[in-house]
Amino acid sequence: MDITKIIGPLNDAQRQAVTAPSQAMLVLAGAGSGKTRVLVHRIAWQIQVEGESAHSILAVTFTNKAAKEMRGRIEDLLKVSAQTLWIGTFHGIAHRLLRRHAKEAKLPETFQVMDSGDQLRVIKRLLNTLNFDDSKWPPREVQWYINAQKDEGIRARHMVEAADIHQRQMLRIYRAYEELCDRSGLVDFAELLLRAHELLRDNPAVLDFYQQRFRQVHVDEFQDTNTIQYAWLRLLTDGKDNLFVVGDDDQSIYGWRGAKIENIYSFQKHYPNHQVIKLEQNYRSTGTILKAANKIIANNAGRMGKELWTDAGEGDKISLYAAFNEQDEAYFVVERIRAWVNEGGLRSDAAILYRSNAQSRQFEEKLMATGTPYRVYGGLRFFDRAEIKNALAYLRLMSNRHDDASFERVINTPTRGIGAKAIDDIRCIARDQSISLWAAAIVLINQRTMTARAANALTGFLELIKNLDKQAEGLALYEKVRLVVEKCGLVELYQKEKMDKGEEKIENLEELVNAARLFDFDQENEENLGELDMFLAHAALESGDSQADDFEDCVQLMTLHSAKGLEFKLVFLVGMEEGLFPSQQSVDDVARLEEERRLCYVGMTRAMKQLYLTYAESRRLYGRESYPRPSRFLREIPAEFLQEVRMRATVSRPVTAVQAKAASLQATGSYKLGQRVGHAKFGEGVVLQMEGSGAQERVQINFKQVGVKWLMLAYAKLEVLQG
Ligand code: ATP
Ligand code: MG
Repeated sequence: MDITKIIGPLNDAQRQAVTAPSQAMLVLAGAGSGKTRVLVHRIAWQIQVEGESAHSILAVTFTNKAAKEMRGRIEDLLKVSAQTLWIGTFHGIAHRLLRRHAKEAKLPETFQVMDSGDQLRVIKRLLNTLNFDDSKWPPREVQWYINAQKDEGIRARHMVEAADIHQRQMLRIYRAYEELCDRSGLVDFAELLLRAHELLRDNPAVLDFYQQRFRQVHVDEFQDTNTIQYAWLRLLTDGKDNLFVVGDDDQSIYGWRGAKIENIYSFQKHYPNHQVIKLEQNYRSTGTILKAANKIIANNAGRMGKELWTDAGEGDKISLYAAFNEQDEAYFVVERIRAWVNEGGLRSDAAILYRSNAQSRQFEEKLMATGTPYRVYGGLRFFDRAEIKNALAYLRLMSNRHDDASFERVINTPTRGIGAKAIDDIRCIARDQSISLWAAAIVLINQRTMTARAANALTGFLELIKNLDKQAEGLALYEKVRLVVEKCGLVELYQKEKMDKGEEKIENLEELVNAARLFDFDQENEENLGELDMFLAHAALESGDSQADDFEDCVQLMTLHSAKGLEFKLVFLVGMEEGLFPSQQSVDDVARLEEERRLCYVGMTRAMKQLYLTYAESRRLYGRESYPRPSRFLREIPAEFLQEVRMRATVSRPVTAVQAKAASLQATGSYKLGQRVGHAKFGEGVVLQMEGSGAQERVQINFKQVGVKWLMLAYAKLEVLQG
């Protein structure tokens, strides 16, 4: 047995963690120190050396992307497929459990998963039905309240009537929401976790089965688990010392969503025989990036305390760019990325990280304008697009008539003459009789109180769904999806829309058929569950990781939160301004400010080679213009690690002789082949080729020290050398 592949590429502390006998273990270590690597190698070790079967291993990570990567790496180490290994996000695994044990979990077989947009819509409608005023009871706040209770494992029935009227009303809403979801077979994200916990807690046979099955349980990013997730892990590993967790208290960034850094302490209490291993060498970043990040995080109180070091060398300084406004910021970043690509860098090694989703638009526009492929993670995801949601709603209704959220979504999309009045009546009946909207629609038709036209339209809608369901019988999943796309009338609806927009939507619908065709049913499904249901759940759980362009080399755009665990050679941390990052809500609250600082630490430590920090002197965001101050985090970085960049030197500074010369050369056309030139970073070289013109002009140069490179003339700032 050759185990060098598994333990060879590890340092001593990592090897100790990977090869330790089965026991509770906490690997507590800073960013880029190889925690995820340890987890992957540990699983491979257990399978190959300890003789565990992949079937008996459970691994939980935070994103689908990370889960996929981990599975790939494990298979790579073992050179066999690890299909039976359970690896996924907490939500994904909870979902899998609930599908297998719907009955024990007291769910209908065809329960549907709602993403947070669906949930918000259901809440809005509920508030409406209960006659709560939207403006006094903002749906988002209600949603936040409900999820916060669930994250703590609290059901409405556990709560006591408070004296406070606001609390009492919230409880009333929560209760009504639970009833509605139960009635309609709807499960939101927080519910997935809570229900999966209850499933294990309340069904000894099920619990026993999984305790026996999962002989080893592993968790990445443990610092961001919430109460219910931890309780679930404890149940699964109860009485055994088989929980292996890795995490970093300095990277806890989901406190606002109920994550409990304290779980790290609880772990140490609950598993008294545990071992702690610390990793201190960082393998990801240059010395400068690492030292700057260490300096920033040192401003937080109450850390568990650890310092990271690297022997990677100092590397370049961190670049700081003060943009005039958000457009200039985007322009700067995109130009830098283009230069990076021109010099041979991969687009996918470059990441733009921002605090809030709304910031992505400026960058997207500039990237689009320059024809640079890019990909936004976690923004408006494919499955979040309105047209996709509409088509999915038809599919959901076919699978479960009582899915009220879907019913409401498409009852009159495309318009079929069912007016607001009829929909209101349906809602009233549903509320009075505690039945689903579908059932209420049938009652309404039977009452014969509607106009003939309205009744026909409504009957037509119900018939459409029933017919689609009938025709779909026996078809392959993608054929079902295609049937719906063709027959539900959405294509005709979008054909009428203004050219481009509508066309794009139709293309997306076609892409949905494609997604269904490519849907890896086997990987997601060990048991024989309904294929359509699995696909629909996948659509709700999927965080945009499997868009069609997975393999295209493209620039990566994402929020700081979704960058967790990832690494890129070139990183832009943008919008470093007070009020944006740190966010406005956090500036007066020490705990939240510290969480923002950890987020900054996470962001900076994503960078391997080059890090740019940018801020705008004026910014238009959410339709408001502001003149923010640079982020306090910038001041927390010692000046010795920073260098200010000026892109438009010619605007604010006199043109230097070299620049003037380069500019005139660019203007007049080109360098001669064989021309000797000097470059600030690459040194001396000879021009080999030229192509393009104007701003696009590129030259290929053979540098003495670094070899052949393509450079953009406009940015290369070449010096012409004599001789
Ligand atoms: P984060 O806290 O950001 O999740 P991490 O601690 O999980 O980081 P990894 O992503 O596992 O760190 O590792 C960071 C980088 O260092 C990866 O590119 C990994 O392959 C590399 N690496 C880890 N350990 C070693 C090692 N012993 N030798 C060489 N490279 C290593
Ligand atoms: Mg990691």
